[in-house]
Amino acid sequence: MNATGDGVGVDGQVLARMRTLSARPPQSLVLEGGTAPERVAAALAWARTVNCGQKGCGTCGVCRQIEEHVFRDLIVVDKAFFEEDPKTPNTDKIRALLPVWGQPPHGEGSRVTIFVEAQDLHPAIANLLLKTLEEPRPGNVFVLLAPQRERLLQTLVSRSFVLTLPWPQAGQAEPDAQDWVRAMLHFWDTGQGWFERTGNKGAADRPLALRILALCQAELAQALMLGASAPTAIAKRLAKLGPAGLRRFDLVLAAAQDALNQPTVMPALVLDWMATSMMPGVIPAAPVPRPKAPAHRA
Ligand SMILES: [Zn+2]
Repeated sequence: MNATGDGVGVDGQVLARMRTLSARPPQSLVLEGGTAPERVAAALAWARTVNCGQKGCGTCGVCRQIEEHVFRDLIVVDKAFFEEDPKTPNTDKIRALLPVWGQPPHGEGSRVTIFVEAQDLHPAIANLLLKTLEEPRPGNVFVLLAPQRERLLQTLVSRSFVLTLPWPQAGQAEPDAQDWVRAMLHFWDTGQGWFERTGNKGAADRPLALRILALCQAELAQALMLGASAPTAIAKRLAKLGPAGLRRFDLVLAAAQDALNQPTVMPALVLDWMATSMMPGVIPAAPVPRPKAPAHRA
């Protein structure tokens, strides 16, 4: 593990792959796996690798500027980027970057544009990005961060090199989220014990709901990759959903994530919707409904 400025480590093997890749940096790199902060840390490590004379020493001026997001050949498209000027539509903010991407970088390395949580980009912006990647942009490289590549437009992924960070270890640092996910699986099997949890006033706040969601995504990835030989009990249970059920769970998680991004939606309602959408009786091939209007709670 290599510590970075904000205390989030980047996996040693990932750093080694980045050093190899940097000999001919792919125009677009997808970073999946890990947690959201780990993906950002890895993207910054990639920016250091392609810009620092020593492939990311961590101590030179370039490396430090990248760590502090003040490097002139670094663009971070995140929540703060979109929220900075509320009057300009988000698509216009991305369009304003097109002439920048048409220019070579200021320095010796590559201009790195990082799209944080790219699965949440508006479809119009994702399409703009796709058009951008269809043209050569000398000296410019793009990084798309997402929990899993399946959450991005397939056409974006197919134009990218994908690096997978270690999946978050179940049971590490998130015992509360684990407890909730186990309760949800128990509810699927028995129909019991769920609403008592979410009905507890204040029991499920937004940060907890997001942790539950992140854990579900990590376990889902394990279930998809390893099936019945997945290492955790949760992933093993998810694998029993079968390919169609897992795909459905992925859609349910994506819709729940969208709902949680809306500050007016109550986290407990989203969790209820998540749990009930996957109940055995509910599974018939219905499209995944939006969780905006969940069933009335008792
Ligand atoms: Zn350096």
